[in-house]
Amino acid sequence: MTSGDVILVTGGSGLVGKAIEQIISTEPEGSRFGKKPGETWIFVGSKDGDLKDVEATRKLFAKYKPTHVIHLAALVGGLFMNMKHKATFFRDNLVINDNVLHTAHLQKTKKVVSCLSTCVFPDKVTYPLDETKIHLGLPHESNFGYAHAKRMVDIQNRAYKDEFGDNFTSAIPTNVFGKHDNFDLEDSHVIPGLIHKCYLAKKNGTPFVVSGTGKPLRQFIYSEDLAKLFIWQLREYDDVEPVILSVGEDEEISIKVVADAIVKAIGFKGEYTFDTARADGQFRKPASNKKLLSLIGDFKFTPFEEALEETVAWFVKNYHNARIGNAKA
Ligand code: NAP
Ligand code: GDP
Repeated sequence: MTSGDVILVTGGSGLVGKAIEQIISTEPEGSRFGKKPGETWIFVGSKDGDLKDVEATRKLFAKYKPTHVIHLAALVGGLFMNMKHKATFFRDNLVINDNVLHTAHLQKTKKVVSCLSTCVFPDKVTYPLDETKIHLGLPHESNFGYAHAKRMVDIQNRAYKDEFGDNFTSAIPTNVFGKHDNFDLEDSHVIPGLIHKCYLAKKNGTPFVVSGTGKPLRQFIYSEDLAKLFIWQLREYDDVEPVILSVGEDEEISIKVVADAIVKAIGFKGEYTFDTARADGQFRKPASNKKLLSLIGDFKFTPFEEALEETVAWFVKNYHNARIGNAKA
C-alpha cells in the first residue's frame, strides 16, 4: 500500500465496521494497525448508498474512488432470523456482493477483502474447519441462504483473479461480538441478544430465558481483535485464498458458558432458564486459526470475559442509542 491510498469500508456503520474505525483512529499512527500517513479511510453504511442497487454502488465508487475496499456490508442476523428469511438472505447478499465486486473490478480497485463467515462451511465435514474445506458439502440447513451467497464470494474472487488478474480475497471470521452490535431481541446473534434479554430481566424482575439447550459450541472473536486482523489482511496478505480470522479451536465455549458470563457481567440474580423448544442450530463449527497465526506471527486476543465485560458496559451506557430493534428504551 502506498501514500494516497483510499480505503473504503462497506458496512462501516455496523459491528465490525465501527471496530475498524475505532482501531484505525486510536492505534498509534504509522503502527501495524494504525493509520499510515497519507491514507484516507472512508466508512459507509446503507444511508450512503444501497449496495443492492448497482447504480448506487457505482456512484459510491465514483465519489470516493477507493484504491482498496474492505467489504463488510451484508444482510446479517442470528440463527432465528436466518431460519425465517433464507431467500432474502440469499438474494440480498448475492446482489450486494456482485455489485461491490464487479464495480471494484470496473473501477480497477487495487484490492478487495470481503467478509465471509464460518457458516459457509459444510455441515458434515471433518473438524477442525480450515480454508481448504469451504466447498466440500452442503452448509447447515438453518442458514443455507446466507451461507451459499457468501460462498459465491470465494468463487467470484477466484474467477476474477483467473480472468482479469484482480486482487480479491476474503476473510472468514467466527462468531463476532462487541460494541455497536445489533442488540435486537429476536433477529440478533446470541451474545447481543442475550445481553439485551438479561438486561431487561434484571430491570423488570422477570426470568432470563436462553433459547435452545445451551449445549452448542461456538468460537467468539471480539470485534476489536477482528478489526486488527482485517487491517493486517488488507495490508500484509496478497492471495486469493481465504484466511480464517479466529481465536484457537481450544477456545470453543458452550452457549451455557456464554449465558453464565452474561449473567455475571450484568449482575443478574433472578430466575434463569433454557427454552429447549427453540432451535439449537448447528451443534459446532470449530475452525482452525493455524494459517492466520503462521502468517501474522504474534497476536494477542482479548480474553473472552474481558471483552464481554467491555461490551456489556458499553451496552448499558449506550442503551438509548444502541441498536435494540423494537424494544422499549
Ligand atoms: P452489522 O452490524 O449488521 O452491519 C452490517 C453493515 O452492512 C451495516 O453497516 C449496514 O448498514 C450495512 N448494510 C447492510 N445492508 C446494506 C445495503 N443494502 N447497502 C449498504 N450497506 C448495507 O453486521 P456485522 O456483524 O458488522 O457484519 C459485518 C460482516 O461480518 C458481514 O459481512 C457479516 O456477514 C460478517 N460476519 C459477521 C459475524 C457476526 O457474528 N456478527 C460473523 C461472521 C461474519 P446500516 O448500518 O445502514 O444498516
Ligand atoms: P450461529 O452461530 O450462526 O448459529 O449464530 P447465533 O449467534 O445466532 O447463535 C446461535 C446459538 O445460540 C444457537 O445454539 C441458539 O439456540 C443459541 N441462542 C440462545 N439464545 C439465543 C438468542 O437469544 N439469540 C440467538 N441468536 N441465539 C441464541
